[in-house]
Amino acid sequence: MALIYMRDLLQHAYRNGYAVGAFDLVSLDFLQAIMDAADSCDSPVILSLAESHFDYFDFELIMPAVEAAAMRARVPVAIHLDHGASLASAQTAIRLGCNGVMVDNSSAPLAENISRTREIVTMAHACDIPVEGELGYVAGVEGEDAERHPGEVVYTSVEEASDYVERTGVDFLAVSIGTVHGRLQGEPQLDFDRLGQINAALRLPLVIHGGTGLGDDQFRRLIANGVAKINYYTALSDAAGSRIAANQQQGARGYTGLVENVQHEIRTEVARCMQLWGCAGRAEEVAADCRPWQNVEHLIFYNLTCSDWDAAQLIAEGERVLATIPGVRKIFAGKTVDESDRFHYCWRVKFASPAVIDTYREHPVHVKYADTWFRPNAGDRVTIDFAPAISVSREASGQPASKAS
Ligand SMILES: [Zn+2]
Repeated sequence: MALIYMRDLLQHAYRNGYAVGAFDLVSLDFLQAIMDAADSCDSPVILSLAESHFDYFDFELIMPAVEAAAMRARVPVAIHLDHGASLASAQTAIRLGCNGVMVDNSSAPLAENISRTREIVTMAHACDIPVEGELGYVAGVEGEDAERHPGEVVYTSVEEASDYVERTGVDFLAVSIGTVHGRLQGEPQLDFDRLGQINAALRLPLVIHGGTGLGDDQFRRLIANGVAKINYYTALSDAAGSRIAANQQQGARGYTGLVENVQHEIRTEVARCMQLWGCAGRAEEVAADCRPWQNVEHLIFYNLTCSDWDAAQLIAEGERVLATIPGVRKIFAGKTVDESDRFHYCWRVKFASPAVIDTYREHPVHVKYADTWFRPNAGDRVTIDFAPAISVSREASGQPASKAS
């Protein structure tokens, strides 16, 4: 099934009264454990990458593995940027393969939160990518002791939430109703009345950050009040840490000995959450209800009337400027190996989604490049956009495509 539209996934969860886990991953151990749990639970899953963790891994280096894990999965998967710091972060995340983004402006004053979030929504929606906003302030830092970051929790107000959603156009809203990021002493007190009112006013999937440490009953009440996505990391990190400490106590020394069974601990906790939050066993119905997420290959075959030197300038300029357009994932500029071919040059531009075909064509950077560099020199050309002819999962399993596709 592989990648699906995250908006479809969370709408399905919201309509059907369950929540999907967005598990932050910080290494291949986390990635494999989360995917194994999703597979064994028959559950949709969100692979989440938090910008606050980028000191611990190379975002650009880990994303091909994250995408490969999603593409080969039997269950529906979405890939999400968690707590992005800026518009540029969101655009980079989309280029690297995320199909959902959150940019956290919640510590800024409301008017600034709205204007900055609005900018991100405009960019992401042009790529058909949903945006999670946050209103109110969930204190703390993912994976750390909450008391080390004692910032004041600012509760989300119902009036502000309605205004914020209307003015920003966000697809999902992270609310602050008493949870904190990181490790807590004791169970937090959650304001369910407030959550119920926000849900009644907004009628859109709500998100909870700081899921670690909540009781089973608290999770059930969150979901009953519109929470469709739960961010979860600290408990996974702690389970992995405890395993490493236990391995050391039992005499393990080297790296592989210390991390032995870490995946098992993470997988167990992820599976527990999937059962508790109601997403376990839903892979098939989600797959039937959600559109597959597909990149598009934008191909241009062309001949040039200018000199070789001018051709090199034209191609270098295209590589430089076209890569800055949101939703462009990769650019390949080719020259034919065989001079007798019908066309001597090509562009292969990878778009994040079919929506990018239009936004790319109309983007001022593209228009300027096409008008001043490309079209005057490349009158002889063919342009075609391709989506995958066969979905990756079918290709891998050798199954013929069904009528539903
Ligand atoms: Zn968070």
